[in-house]
Amino acid sequence: MKKAAALALALLFLAPSSALLGVATLGSTSATAACTPGSLALGPIPDSLTATTRNGETVTLNRAQLTHAATIIRVGGQTSGVGRPGVVIALMAALTESSLRMLANTGAYPESADYPNDGNGADHDSLGLFQMRPAAGWGTVAELMDSAYQARAFYGGPTGPNYPSPRGLLDIPGWQSLDPGEAAQAVEVSAYPDRYQNYQPVAEAILTALTRSASTGSGGGDAAPVVPETTRLVFPLPEGSWVRTSPFGWRTDPMTRERAFHSGSDFAAADGTPIYAVADGLVVHAEYTGTYGGLVIIEHTVAGERVASYYAHMWETGIHVAEGQTVTAGQHIGDVGSSGKSTGPHLHLEIRVGGQGGEAIDSDAWLTEHGAEGTTAGEAAPALCTAGGGA
Ligand SMILES: [Zn+2]
Repeated sequence: MKKAAALALALLFLAPSSALLGVATLGSTSATAACTPGSLALGPIPDSLTATTRNGETVTLNRAQLTHAATIIRVGGQTSGVGRPGVVIALMAALTESSLRMLANTGAYPESADYPNDGNGADHDSLGLFQMRPAAGWGTVAELMDSAYQARAFYGGPTGPNYPSPRGLLDIPGWQSLDPGEAAQAVEVSAYPDRYQNYQPVAEAILTALTRSASTGSGGGDAAPVVPETTRLVFPLPEGSWVRTSPFGWRTDPMTRERAFHSGSDFAAADGTPIYAVADGLVVHAEYTGTYGGLVIIEHTVAGERVASYYAHMWETGIHVAEGQTVTAGQHIGDVGSSGKSTGPHLHLEIRVGGQGGEAIDSDAWLTEHGAEGTTAGEAAPALCTAGGGA
């Protein structure tokens, strides 16, 4: 998007000296977890949905496949500790294993064809959405030909049907800090993590589409990209990893020595510190340019209002999202860098009202006003909010 490059002209990127880092007070990010109970509330199931995999393949899902996805989302919402991150992993696994189809396996279990199914599979004695094997202890044929049972078994945990073994997602220690593809692989005990990672953008698109009605509708029909109401707000850097260095507003530009308006807030952090999306949203720009540095822009709907968040100075290798991708609050979208007009590793964060190209407001104050949750490194997406109640 050329527009964003022009806009970046207005940005001033400043970083602290390391001495400043030593004396600045650690930022306090009030962890008032504003859990939205309906964050996994299902809306109407569309007749079809088309999305693109990480490898660039187009995938079109029909209503039957999306109905299974809805079951996975519903069970995830009912299972404490899963949350949207866990649901994304489950969708990635089911997309990879069965293309979200309830597969019988008449070679191993002729009776599996007696249950409602979407076709016949032939991998060992695997059955259903997650290709679970009765011989591996996942359940009986009757149990595994039930999509809700498979979803409960995949999530696992103390309330899961197989606790403690075979392990479901909640039984994998530290699953929240694993790459989602690796987490899916850990449950499926597969040798190919890349296969799962490929489906992450598709899983996220499904989750956004099926839970859309929980938000204020865009009302714009099919033309406008869907930017659903966010489920929560998250501070963009891990707690304890950053210090405030240069606030929003007028200042003397340390590079030009001239008075200039600083349209963002600067948070110094070590090179490589993960940057999280502040809210659920749609990536509208993700580009590296030598002058302005790596810049990601995400549009969100927050309290019914469209806003855009800007994250600047990532290195080229530190940009982890692409334009058009849907992200969730707390998703790791990039790493702190010092590219472009910057004198040291930091995040330059802007919030613009009305979306990309809108008027910049004080992003630091905005996060505080909206009760952004603090996030601990490795827990980029705390799965505390479930449809049932939450913390
Ligand atoms: Zn800045």
